[in-house]
Amino acid sequence: MAGKTEEPRVRRAETVPARTPIGRPALRPLPALSPPPALIELRGVEKLYRTGKLRYAALRGVDLVVGPGEMVAVVGASGSGKTTILNMITGIDRPTSGRVTVAGADLNSMTEERLARWRGETVGIVFQFFQLLPTLTALENAALPMDFVRKRKPADRWARARKHLEAVGLGDKAGHLPFELSGGEQQRVAIARALACDPKLVVGDEPTGNLDSETGAAMLDLLESLNAAGTTVLYVTHDMALAARAHRIVTIKDGRVVADERR
Ligand code: ADP
Ligand code: MG
Repeated sequence: MAGKTEEPRVRRAETVPARTPIGRPALRPLPALSPPPALIELRGVEKLYRTGKLRYAALRGVDLVVGPGEMVAVVGASGSGKTTILNMITGIDRPTSGRVTVAGADLNSMTEERLARWRGETVGIVFQFFQLLPTLTALENAALPMDFVRKRKPADRWARARKHLEAVGLGDKAGHLPFELSGGEQQRVAIARALACDPKLVVGDEPTGNLDSETGAAMLDLLESLNAAGTTVLYVTHDMALAARAHRIVTIKDGRVVADERR
């Protein structure tokens, strides 16, 4: 504002003098100004599927860097490699070659067991067909990942799962089984489940693909509010209107990134 002296937002370390033993002010070294580390880093990722004698290169050298706090949509034709990329990022599958680093973890070097635990603690995954356990209630589904990684005391898990169900607007359906819920409601339970362990990253593989456009848009509202609260969000969609709600759109074609548009 004109006429008003603004406080500098960042106090530089050099302006704060430290005292040397003989009492003279000394300059403190500036902290290194490096960019924040990437949350997702794929370098030269290739994925070859082998079916009998057939080989198919689903990913053909993917480089993708996503910073913490980004909201990224991945688009591309069916069969272009979108799910395969997500599987690399979540450690559900491993690359044939190339490096995958997510939230500081080098996924290439981790055992299956460590990878499964890391995934449970770090990533929330939302699928097109919800993939809720049909014999568990909404609340039990939402609490399940905490049991898996033994996060929090068992007594606290129900309270947290309930809080997440309330956050997605399903507080009153906690006791329902999946078949008693609409598609949109089931996907909300899946989002509550994805939030169970406070993941740094939420990944959606066509999370709106099985929902009508209004319910799909409401799902995007939820992802957007997660992102606004600091969670990195990456989702695959066929719907360009829903892709346009991301800050960045990555287009995949034949196993390659062919466009990467920041908005
Ligand atoms: P998208 O999610 O973009 O539709 P996918 O990543 O699922 O594409 O698949 C990319 C390509 O890899 C497709 O041609 C698909 O048929 C092939 N593919 C995917 N999974 C396997 C698998 N387990 N075995 C063999 N081929 C596969
Ligand atoms: Mg797919």
